[in-house]
Amino acid sequence: MYRFKDKISCPNCENAILKDDGKIKIFCPHCNWAITTDVWMTDDDIQVKAIIEKATLLFQSKSYEEALKLFDTAILFSPGEETFWNNKGLTLWFLERSEEAIICFDKSISINDKDSVPYFYKGRTLLILGKTLEAIACLDKAIQFNPRNAEAWLTKGLAIHGTNKKEGIRCFRKAKLLGLDKKYDLVFTTMGVEISKPWWKIW
Ligand SMILES: [Zn+2]
Repeated sequence: MYRFKDKISCPNCENAILKDDGKIKIFCPHCNWAITTDVWMTDDDIQVKAIIEKATLLFQSKSYEEALKLFDTAILFSPGEETFWNNKGLTLWFLERSEEAIICFDKSISINDKDSVPYFYKGRTLLILGKTLEAIACLDKAIQFNPRNAEAWLTKGLAIHGTNKKEGIRCFRKAKLLGLDKKYDLVFTTMGVEISKPWWKIW
């Protein structure tokens, strides 16, 4: 996908759409895709927002390969936007391309090293790869920057309870206090945690 001069490229069909500065919503004449715009938004703002909206819909419908292409396009426009790297990494995670996902989370962390989200995603990915100690280090960072990140507590509990049961249970209790048992189909027990699905599929 590329930009046309004075026009927006439709994220749905890739045809050019003429901008209309008087309208908050414009519709693609080819596929009727709605694009939100506003006077304060630059052409690039409008283009990136449209791409991300489409990519998010594709992601939610589990069309990960297609979502990935659009997240890549969004990154071409805004390489310094950490959430785009998080989204790309998460998409790669669902495609089971863990090593590439970690590169994206590292990129996000290099842009903002005080955000819990990429540390949590990276920690979870490292745990899947069997890199337990590195995973715990990342999850500790995720918890440090957001002590209410219940998923990070749960994942740390899963990572550590094999070698340190007491700490594992403390982490599970934190996750439960933060309401994770209500959010997901989890059963916390006094000795640990039972999850009705493979734990890496609950997010
Ligand atoms: Zn279109």
